[in-house]
Amino acid sequence: MNPTARIFVAGGETLAGAALLDLLHAAGYRNVVGAPPNEPDLTVAGQVEDFFGEARPEYVFLVAGHSGGIRLNRERPAELMLNNLLVAAHVIQHAYNHGVAKLLYLASSCAYPSHAPQPLRVESLLTGPLEATSAAYAMAKLAGWQLCEAYRRQYGACFITAFPTNPFGPHDDFSPEGAHVIPGLMRRAHAAKLRGQPELTVWGTGTPRREFVYSRDLADACLFVMRHYDGPEPINLGGSAELSIAAVALAVAEVVGYRGRLRFDAGQPDGMPFKGLDSSRLRELGWRPSTDFRTGLAETYAWFLHHVVRERLMTNAE
Ligand code: GDP
Repeated sequence: MNPTARIFVAGGETLAGAALLDLLHAAGYRNVVGAPPNEPDLTVAGQVEDFFGEARPEYVFLVAGHSGGIRLNRERPAELMLNNLLVAAHVIQHAYNHGVAKLLYLASSCAYPSHAPQPLRVESLLTGPLEATSAAYAMAKLAGWQLCEAYRRQYGACFITAFPTNPFGPHDDFSPEGAHVIPGLMRRAHAAKLRGQPELTVWGTGTPRREFVYSRDLADACLFVMRHYDGPEPINLGGSAELSIAAVALAVAEVVGYRGRLRFDAGQPDGMPFKGLDSSRLRELGWRPSTDFRTGLAETYAWFLHHVVRERLMTNAE
């Protein structure tokens, strides 16, 4: 991928997509096409076809599709599944039809069977039932992976799939409906601090464990595999931190400066007991994350204060 290659980040407004656009810009890639606000609506086949015909991208990072935390997955499984299926089908089809040299499809660690041996190895994909709270979304991600694989088998397309661990960072969804654990807790800890609340409720028992990757590191890993990996086997993109939800809550409270008590609400779902990836393949190829968890959290909180809180203040003032 030379610096003048035409590159399309499908899903430029997502957490991973925004980080990829920043990284490509910083790394000197000058020909990024279709970045927001010029991205076509990926759920509309005609728009995707026209876009590929006109912009003719040579490399595609397919990091699009609605996603969300445990609550959104429980409340809106049909919307999440349909959106991810449409986006993957349209982008993969038209990338192939318009001669894209290489495509990286970003799936999700949710797509692993919920009781597969830990850490999760790619050999475990499709070997058991999915976690019930996110099965619809996960099934769409599996379909995207399998579609890439089918294009590779039938047409020899250079389409690869990566399974990232839980990402967090700037541009994340901080809304009460959609947030994953880090932005969800960050917003609530911030509100609890301002209101002087003595207690912060953390969903679930606090015992599930998650592995996290900072979005800038995830973008870097995506660029790395685009450059250095090709093969029919998917590749795991793991992060640096693997913690219990209780430890995550403590770290978020500390970064936000919230000093009250944490209360665990076991009436809320825990989701998968553990979700950590075996990323030995990526490490063998020579990639390592570079941001430690606390630094990533502090940068995310700074972004939240600047963009979400400030925007809300301005909207309220109007
Ligand atoms: P998951 O990784 O797909 O299960 O999605 P989440 O990031 O939404 O949730 C991870 C874990 O964090 C689950 O055990 C949740 O119950 C727990 N959790 C604790 N507090 C929160 C919160 O405020 N928001 C969310 N989304 N999850 C929370």
